[in-house]
Amino acid sequence: MKIILLGAPGSGKGTLAKKISNDFKIPQISTGDLFRAIVKEDSLLAKKVNQIMKSGALVPDEVTCEIVKERISKPDCNKGFILDGFPRTIAQAKALEKISQIDTVILVELDNDIIIDRLSSRRVCPSCGEIYNSQDNLNNLCKKCSSPLIQRDDDKPETIKYRLEVYGTNTSPLINFYSDRLLKVCSAGSPDETYKPVKSFLEKMEEEIE
Ligand code: AMP
Repeated sequence: MKIILLGAPGSGKGTLAKKISNDFKIPQISTGDLFRAIVKEDSLLAKKVNQIMKSGALVPDEVTCEIVKERISKPDCNKGFILDGFPRTIAQAKALEKISQIDTVILVELDNDIIIDRLSSRRVCPSCGEIYNSQDNLNNLCKKCSSPLIQRDDDKPETIKYRLEVYGTNTSPLINFYSDRLLKVCSAGSPDETYKPVKSFLEKMEEEIE
């Protein structure tokens, strides 16, 4: 199964991707995570990507498509994958069409007010990537690996607003682009409530593919 998760930053794509990956045994490919790994390297690309990510803008399509192409050619993607945060532009979607056939696109919908609230209180573990809400984790330590949690630079209020604008301008046209294979889910409830309709949809789809 080849799945795209579409949705604004903070809509809950990452949380949903982890649940799908766990149940359907296909890897979650988050371009944001791939870029955060690149930023840790000592290279010119790392410096450039770091600057772009801090500002909330998008990394150029060419760079992004190249890293996705390389990632999905790895053996763990043979049975499928979940693209989390890619494509984010029409140009990326067209480039993806040339290298892979996507089965379904899940659009995760959430009001901007809730997104701003959630992103402002989001904390992440820099070691294992686990995501928390600052109100649910008062000691600010990762429950899995005990590392001190951090707030992403691009989760600061001024950058959140800009990222939502970038989503509206560059990414939301993809909703139309994928209208022939779109499943819409609302993520205002708990992660399990969001996942329930997705799970039954994917189970049916898996049966049809087999
Ligand atoms: P995310 O973790 O998905 O919110 O992504 C964090 C940042 O990584 C974004 O704000 C962009 O700067 C960059 N990024 C992630 N995915 C893409 C993409 N598909 N195209 C361009 N830039 C991206």
